[in-house]
Amino acid sequence: MLDLAIIGGGPAGLTAGLYATRGGLANVTMFEMGMPGGQITGSSEIENYPGATGEISGMDLMMPWPEQCQRFGLKHAMVQVLKVEHKADGNFTIHKGDGTSEDAMSVIIATGSTPKRAGFKGEDQLFGKGVSTCATCDGFFYKGKEVAVIGGGDTALEETIFLSNICSKVYLVHRRDKFRAAPNTIERVKKLENVEFVLNASIVEAYGDAMGVAGLKVNTPEGERDLPVPGIFTFVGMNVNNQVLQKEDGSFICDVNEAGEVIVDLRMRTSTPGLYAAGDIRIDAPKQVVCAAGDGAVAAVNVIPYLDEKVNG
Ligand code: FAD
Ligand code: NAP
Repeated sequence: MLDLAIIGGGPAGLTAGLYATRGGLANVTMFEMGMPGGQITGSSEIENYPGATGEISGMDLMMPWPEQCQRFGLKHAMVQVLKVEHKADGNFTIHKGDGTSEDAMSVIIATGSTPKRAGFKGEDQLFGKGVSTCATCDGFFYKGKEVAVIGGGDTALEETIFLSNICSKVYLVHRRDKFRAAPNTIERVKKLENVEFVLNASIVEAYGDAMGVAGLKVNTPEGERDLPVPGIFTFVGMNVNNQVLQKEDGSFICDVNEAGEVIVDLRMRTSTPGLYAAGDIRIDAPKQVVCAAGDGAVAAVNVIPYLDEKVNG
């Protein structure tokens, strides 16, 4: 029986692992289906993590985190978790993708979020063949070429900056003329000579063939435009990864809001005793690395007295 199962190895899960093991829990496993580090490892630049000055990528930032946790005894199981079951005795069963399961007295859910699809014609068919949600991964394929970015949030604008350094031109296609991104990021993009704003634009379709994307058609107030780009990057928001908390009948093992975000209190406790949530998956998450890490610490320091009470009374 694990003292604590941490589901997800992004900034929230890793920090929870650090605080739980350093706080004296002996038997803690972090279940992470890929390499630890989380979604920030796909970001080309992070400039708002305290102390991380200079040019630093998400990968650089996260590289030392797993090793730091392992020094204090955090175990990493590289496996996908399919379900977290809340049992009648108050403990949990972690059902894993390899067909096995493990029991735990407490759980911190830190599965984060994943990019949404924008929903335009051709997006799914051409995904991975010119349509991408990761500029760090795929930007280099378009060195010296024109690309389109879709979205108006922090991710779209930051990745536009990144792509503008590689590509000959970036069309920034947004459905409104106001952006959600931080004002200083918007100002940085406005200064880039090879970025063209295509605003109040709706996507008609991405087109191409088996070889990949050949272009993007958009409707603008000035009429339909055909952007002859081989690369389209969509950054239209994130969905929370709450599937592991969902029961067969579609309900959840703890309370969630309409968007599926897990409802927590200031100690990161969910409505289910022994189940905590941290990072992007929780309600009102600012969706920042520093906040996810903070949540992980808060959850772990509250799991420790919970287990003490459960075991020792
Ligand atoms: P995540 O980082 O999403 O980690 C969740 C982990 O859980 C993942 O590693 C995933 O593999 C794992 N997982 C999910 N489901 C399962 C499962 N069923 N079984 C096992 N493992 C599972 N924030 C900033 O502060 N500054 C920035 O500059 C910044 N830039 C960003 C740029 C981009 C392109 C993106 C996408 C995000 C950016 N963010 C930035 C936001 C930041 O990355 C997130 O807020 C943060 O990573 C959330 O951490 P998390 O631990 O909650 O979740
Ligand atoms: P976001 O803030 O939700 O922005 C999504 C953008 O995509 C919005 O501009 C939205 O338009 C547009 N959009 C949504 N659905 C669309 C569709 N179907 N077709 C076309 N456009 C669509 O998402 P995000 O930029 O990925 O950011 C997610 C969170 O992470 C945010 O909280 C953000 O602040 C945070 N983040 C922070 C940083 C940083 O701090 N440096 C970096 C990256 C991300 P509307 O504006 O019209 O709704």
